[in-house]
Amino acid sequence: MGVCALLLLFALHIHSWSVYGLFVAMYLVLRWPTHPMYPTTAYDSLALAVLLLDQKANCCYTNSHFCILASLPQEDVLGDGWLAAIHPEDQASVLAAQINLQQGFSCTIEFRIQDLSGHICWVSCLMQVVTGFSNVAYQVILFDFSAFKQPLSEAAALLCEQKQKRADLESIFNSSKDPIAVLDLQFNFSFFNQAYAKLFFSLYGIVLEINDCFLLCEFNSPDDRSNLITFWGRALQGESFSAQSELYGESFSEVSDSQGKRAALAVFDMSFNPHFNDAGDQIGAVSVLHDVTLASKTKLALLRSEELFKAATQSSLSAIYVLEVIKDESWNVKNFQIIDVNPKGFDYFDIKKQNASGLLLMDALNRINSSHLYPMFCDVFLNKKTIMSEEFSLNPFFYGSWFNYQIVAVSNGVVFTITDVSQRKKSDLAIAAYSDLQKAILDSAGSAIIVTDLNNTIRLFNRAAENMLGYQADELIAKEKPALFHQSAAVADLLADFCREIGEEPNAYFDAFAQQAKRYIQRDWIYQHRDGHSFPVELTMNVVRDLRGEITGYMGIANDISIRKLAEIKLQQSESRTSAILGSLHDSVLMMGFDGVIRDANPAALRLFAFDQLKGRSLSALFPRLGEINSKRGVAKELFVRLGVDTRRVSEVVAVNKYGDEMVMDMALAVVEVEGERVYIATLHDLTQHKLDEKKMQDTIEELESLQASLSASHEQLSCANSELSRLAHMDGLTGLANRRLFDQTLAQEWARSARSGAYLALVMLDVDYFKRYNDHFGHQAGDECLKQVSAALASALHRPGDFVARYGGEEFVLVLPNTDQDGAIQVVEVVLNQIRNLKIIHESSDAAKVVTMSAGIAVMLPLLGVDSYCLVEAADQALYQAKHLGRNRYFVAGSKV
Ligand code: GH3
Ligand code: MG
Ligand code: MG
Repeated sequence: MGVCALLLLFALHIHSWSVYGLFVAMYLVLRWPTHPMYPTTAYDSLALAVLLLDQKANCCYTNSHFCILASLPQEDVLGDGWLAAIHPEDQASVLAAQINLQQGFSCTIEFRIQDLSGHICWVSCLMQVVTGFSNVAYQVILFDFSAFKQPLSEAAALLCEQKQKRADLESIFNSSKDPIAVLDLQFNFSFFNQAYAKLFFSLYGIVLEINDCFLLCEFNSPDDRSNLITFWGRALQGESFSAQSELYGESFSEVSDSQGKRAALAVFDMSFNPHFNDAGDQIGAVSVLHDVTLASKTKLALLRSEELFKAATQSSLSAIYVLEVIKDESWNVKNFQIIDVNPKGFDYFDIKKQNASGLLLMDALNRINSSHLYPMFCDVFLNKKTIMSEEFSLNPFFYGSWFNYQIVAVSNGVVFTITDVSQRKKSDLAIAAYSDLQKAILDSAGSAIIVTDLNNTIRLFNRAAENMLGYQADELIAKEKPALFHQSAAVADLLADFCREIGEEPNAYFDAFAQQAKRYIQRDWIYQHRDGHSFPVELTMNVVRDLRGEITGYMGIANDISIRKLAEIKLQQSESRTSAILGSLHDSVLMMGFDGVIRDANPAALRLFAFDQLKGRSLSALFPRLGEINSKRGVAKELFVRLGVDTRRVSEVVAVNKYGDEMVMDMALAVVEVEGERVYIATLHDLTQHKLDEKKMQDTIEELESLQASLSASHEQLSCANSELSRLAHMDGLTGLANRRLFDQTLAQEWARSARSGAYLALVMLDVDYFKRYNDHFGHQAGDECLKQVSAALASALHRPGDFVARYGGEEFVLVLPNTDQDGAIQVVEVVLNQIRNLKIIHESSDAAKVVTMSAGIAVMLPLLGVDSYCLVEAADQALYQAKHLGRNRYFVAGSKV
């Protein structure tokens, strides 16, 4: 039964020693109750090898199994013989186990047993302390597990190998720069290499761990996230694909290129594949990324440069052909074919757009009879060089044209450029021909020509300049500056003038000549000869440009104008003389062309016609009475014919001035030559004043004659006139009344007469009311008229022969009434005042009435001899004052109560 149980254990591959130990112990206990001698019989039939050792670890018993294992006879095993069966490398561990045993510790070790033939078997050995027996101290049970040991070690080796492989793979993956990741079906990372981890961190700031779920990763780039989830999703569903995609990472919101598009941080070629296990079941997906950012950038740059090239060539005036080399099997150049042509290139080889590319060079050249160029293409391509040349009528279709062509090698062919340079060539040729002539022309030129470079150094000095200034060209060219010929003060003045004109401060570096040259200025200037004498020149400054139009210097062209200046001065003198004469002439002088247009007029003419300027006016404007003039026939001539004027005599004509006033004039005409032109000179002598004088004279004569006739009649009247004269001496000029002087005489006489006769004498002072206002309102003349009417009314109111009226002054009158008492005087005054009112002379501004009224002051006295009559005047005046004061238009009697 025990054996069966052991076998069962073996069959179950149970190697645990504690189970065996327990089993054996149970077996022994059941079979043997305590015996002093260790019973061995039970081991004899045991399927395990057994050794029993004494206190000194010498074997005292072994069963046949051990003998078989060690292939030793039993007697050789006994004692310490058993140790010889132990593999030398394992001896030490067995001895160590013995020492453990002697200290009372059971143990289990594994070691090898080697038989004489070298066969090795592995045993698992349980060493136990046995107590209670006199002969046996330790029990050793060995289990041969060689049969298991083999596959176990193999499995271990395999495991080891797999581990190694995995490590190797990981290290390979990790050393790969391409990011690699493996996800399981739940999107968990089951593997990723360092490149992948780095990428993730750099793009999204995420530190990846194995088993992290891709879906739970927090991306900061939603686009990347959704793209990658889609990719992984497809792969996890079994799809195998590759895609190129951009990953923007965290900076995507800030990074943008000039067009406002997001710039990708990196571009990857990504491959996604499902991941299967050995059984063929999908367990996840693998992704391998390959950074192609640089490549894509290069591609983009290439695209741009191609676009640039396209744009440049599209608009180029040159024909541009891009040719690709065609090689035969042995890599020899066979031909070139056109792969790109710009628009200009189509007409050149007479090729249509659609069949341009692919056209072979040889054919193209044949079209224009230029196959001789072909070897050059090969040469350029093979030696990687550039050929540039010019040829006349390279293309027969363009006969008469010059062409510049250029062949440039590129990596896989050549670029052929043809430019029509006829225009330039012509001017080149012309220039070449011209430059020979140039010197001859310059030297034969009459003007001095001096050219300076931008540093103001003389570069050219022609023969005329040599003659003019007394220097030799060789002495000056590249050595001197034109300052040599200038007066420094004049240069300073010119500079100051120029700077004022352009509103800049003069400075030492400012070259006024250069500035003027740019504006092509011509001016009179003074040059200084080598011998020191100065002379006037007309200096024209100009810029000198090279073929590209850039300014390379300045050119001054000078002409000696000494003679002209002299002539000018003479002319000026003669002109001033002439104009002085013309100016001082009283007669008007007009100069006019045969076209009837006035060229000049002297001041007298301007005065006569009342114009500021007559120059440019038509002659017919001054003689408008003549009607339509046919301008084709020479206006002036026709005009003069109509006026009846010619060069032989002076005639009388009628002209009008600016205001249309007609003037009678004598006109003399002459035809003279002025500055090579024949002109009329007309001298006009104004007869208007003369005519007026004539008429005046006539009138005076007539007047004198009539005077003569009336003279005798006047003589008779003279005596009457004399008495009238004395009357006039006492009469007021305006009113015809007696004047103040007569009043004074009359008053004195009447005062004396009344004093003698003892009669009353009345005196009335009268004054027109508000007469000032009347004057102000109607004017002084109306005032005078009014006074006349008032005077007449006063005179007519007096009836007695002794009554006397006089104008006292201004609008004041006085009445002298002899032999009149107060009542009489009042009576007269009332009549007088009424008479005045009845004149009804409107006087609206009067406060007294609506008509002219008078106020009167009455004084009546019995005169006394020896008393001054004037007291009567004063009394009347006082009374008049009272009348005015009381409201006017009334009388007041002196001495009455107010
Ligand atoms: P009143 O009623 O106070 O007399 O007022 P009035 O304006 O008449 O008095 P005033 O003495 O202020 O003015 C007198 C004016 O009479 C002054 C002058 O203009 C005017 N006068 C004097 N003599 C003449 C003359 O001979 N002809 C004219 N037309 N006016 C005269
Ligand atoms: Mg007065
Ligand atoms: Mg008055």
